[in-house]
Amino acid sequence: MDKNWVEFAKTREGYEFFLDKVMANLPRTFGKIGDRVLVVNPIILHESRRTIITNFTHIASTLNREPEHLARFIFKESGKAGTLESERLLIQGKITNEELRKLLELYVKEFVKCPVCGGLDTKIVAEKRFRFLLCEVCGAKSPVRKI
Ligand SMILES: [Zn+2]
Repeated sequence: MDKNWVEFAKTREGYEFFLDKVMANLPRTFGKIGDRVLVVNPIILHESRRTIITNFTHIASTLNREPEHLARFIFKESGKAGTLESERLLIQGKITNEELRKLLELYVKEFVKCPVCGGLDTKIVAEKRFRFLLCEVCGAKSPVRKI
């Protein structure tokens, strides 16, 4: 490693920079869906005024949810605006990797994971004005808020 990088890493800013990089590369495992393990590994780019998740639609499909739904959740919970553009989610302003990981965890907890059995093989169904999380594992039907 270059000496300048080593010096940089010793500063607080540098420490956070590398910590952010390391955290970004840690896939988050949520549990198993059938035989497959649910792993979400967002690829995040930070620009000066925006945050880009380059594999956003892939994350949504891993969670078996519509990208628009996950995007609305992130905008609402972070209080930030943004747009879905092809595979990518563009967020205005900065969201750190750690914040994004927390948002994804909250999303899974509220909109993917069955509160009864903890199963991840679920879907969201609409009935009249209401939304339910329907579990394919235990059959439970739990109300979820509309976003
Ligand atoms: Zn269940």
